[in-house]
Amino acid sequence: MDLPNIETYLRPNEIQTINNWGKDWAWLAGGTWLFSEPQPQLRVLVDMQSLDWSEIEVQEDNLVIGATCPLIKLLQYPWQLEWTAVAGLKSAVSTLAASLKVINMATVGGNLCLALSVGSLAPIMIALGAKYEIWNLQGESRLVAAEDFQIGSRQTILQPSEVLRRVLIPVKNLKWRVNYQRFGIAATDPALAIVVSAYNPENLQFKCVIGASVPAPKLLDCNHINIDYSPSLQKIEFINSPKASATYRREITQILIKRSLHQLKLINTHP
Ligand SMILES: Cc1cc2nc3c(=O)[nH]c(=O)nc-3n(C[C@H](O)[C@H](O)[C@H](O)COP(=O)(O)OP(=O)(O)OC[C@H]3O[C@@H](n4cnc5c(N)ncnc54)[C@H](O)[C@@H]3O)c2cc1C
Repeated sequence: MDLPNIETYLRPNEIQTINNWGKDWAWLAGGTWLFSEPQPQLRVLVDMQSLDWSEIEVQEDNLVIGATCPLIKLLQYPWQLEWTAVAGLKSAVSTLAASLKVINMATVGGNLCLALSVGSLAPIMIALGAKYEIWNLQGESRLVAAEDFQIGSRQTILQPSEVLRRVLIPVKNLKWRVNYQRFGIAATDPALAIVVSAYNPENLQFKCVIGASVPAPKLLDCNHINIDYSPSLQKIEFINSPKASATYRREITQILIKRSLHQLKLINTHP
């Protein structure tokens, strides 16, 4: 939709050239969310496309994904076969309750910074031990763990004018076995619960991240496969909404955890 209140559109080549960031400014990435509903609080859009950030590359020991990388590239990139965990990244994109038009335009950074509770990329990034590089307008950078980035529904730790520059995933973690579970009333509906499990066959370590059923994705604080997750889930505050009660979301999350353990062949019982 048109955003008639936008007075200024900037397309910088470098973020250091931007001055006087105001509270009515916003970064424009793919624009799929920004142009999907009125944004009466905004006057200035700063388009990130001409920053010309690289999309997907390997640097030293990390897979590096630029924030402006379109989601579709995660499905199309010629990944190494031994990077089994890439299946989880692909599932996060292909289970998104959005049309191909959105997936073509929406970016990795846009999805993470929008920070919807149903956000599909954040749980897999946390499961894979990703770090996010954040820049300010002076070009200074800081690294944060993916699990510390989103602090609520539509809330991140980004300060005004700060930008998510890129995502770094340790290449060794890409050899983990990963399972991505999503439950929604219909495939085109936003998820009611997401569970991402990651298993490192080398040290037998296991991680489980829940999303969509809680305001921000959460890494469960237990790394044993045979553990009963229900006490840990009881302590978590699940979203209670007309779409699904907290009790229902907790139950579904528990089932998805069991299902993912079963699909990773870590338990025999079929949930
Ligand atoms: C019909 C529809 C269905 C959808 N379903 C789902 C779903 O099921 N799951 C899901 O996860 N998402 C869903 N989405 C959200 C979709 O994934 C987002 O629209 C998309 O991820 C936003 O990406 P974008 O690049 O277009 O961001 P934009 O629309 O350009 O920006 C989104 C927000 O992020 C900020 N931003 C963008 N990039 C950066 C950056 N690098 N640094 C700092 N701030 C930044 C912008 O200022 C803005 O506030 C859906 C969207 C639509 C329209």
